[in-house]
Amino acid sequence: MTTRAKTPEHLADLDPGERRAKAMSLGLPAFRANQISTHYFTHYNDDPESWSDIPQGMRELVASEFLPKLITLVRSITCDNGKTRKDLWRLHDGVLVESVLMKYTDRTTVCISSQAGCGMDCPFCATGQAGLTRNLTAGEITAQLVAAAKSCAAGELPGGPTRLSNVVFMGMGEPLANYDAVMRTVRNIVTPQPDGLGIGARSVTVSTVGLVNGIEKLMDEDLQITLAVSLHTPDDQLRDTLVPINNRFKVAEVLKAADAYADKTGRRYSIEYALIRDINDQAWRADLLGKLLKNRHAHVNLIPLNPTPGSKWTASRKEDEKEFVRVLESYWVPVTVRDTRGREIDGACGQLAAAEA
Ligand code: SAH
Repeated sequence: MTTRAKTPEHLADLDPGERRAKAMSLGLPAFRANQISTHYFTHYNDDPESWSDIPQGMRELVASEFLPKLITLVRSITCDNGKTRKDLWRLHDGVLVESVLMKYTDRTTVCISSQAGCGMDCPFCATGQAGLTRNLTAGEITAQLVAAAKSCAAGELPGGPTRLSNVVFMGMGEPLANYDAVMRTVRNIVTPQPDGLGIGARSVTVSTVGLVNGIEKLMDEDLQITLAVSLHTPDDQLRDTLVPINNRFKVAEVLKAADAYADKTGRRYSIEYALIRDINDQAWRADLLGKLLKNRHAHVNLIPLNPTPGSKWTASRKEDEKEFVRVLESYWVPVTVRDTRGREIDGACGQLAAAEA
């Protein structure tokens, strides 16, 4: 067995109390932790040279103990006239992960990775094909967010400086399989500045293959984050192959957990459904899905499949997609077709890292 060098501990791995305790354990006054949090979460500033409120002789220690550099940009690719940007990051041990920043008229969203690779093995997903390398730490996940917030504030996207408004855990990895680091990150997102980024919980979406125990835990966090469930088909028979964890948690159990989440939080959940030509896009499956979801507090997000290299599967025909929508609407199930942002930059989960590796 190979042992991996541990990721250095970062401010973002700790809660505000632990940050102050760590400052004191280094022989610093506790308020240094608040100053460093302000630099990081309010000004997105990890450059010790510019921290004029911290004595020069102390900056090195504070920077290395609280803000070790966890992610390094390998390259960025943009499309949609610059409104979509995909960043490829190298972690301290050489592992690669991706994040995607998307500017819309009314919001700016970042899609982040919670694991390097993924262990869920969904056959249509590029990340799934490579298997799981390792969990990311909260510091490594949060660093993707802070980098995105910094790009927004610096006006790197068309339209000038803006605020990062939404976060989706739809990059590489299964967030509920790295529960503690993801929850620490969610706290970093929703905690008001200076101890966090101050983004509303309702603007955060956690997407899952349907780990029922994870959904149940999430329910007890008392947070209004949006839950997205990657269903991809209403029937267990096909789902057993499209989303292999279905062999453990069946469609009915997953929906029951999502319903309980909706009851507890008052939040409608999303059903993610990648439309794959002649695999899961038949009108009879739309009918089954409609029957399953009518009267539930759910919204369907249809995603035209982004074909991965070497796969025989492709996106549905336009007429089949239209019919799928029509059938769902006949059951009064709210449905949208996701725009295919970032298609030219291998927007599908995991494709950029796969190409680099
Ligand atoms: N593991 C989590 C989150 C990561 S993927 C999950 O499965 O929900 C985010 C969404 O993109 C999921 O719904 C996933 O099924 C979908 N996806 C993955 N590969 C895709 C592809 N090639 N085309 C379209 N959607 C894809």
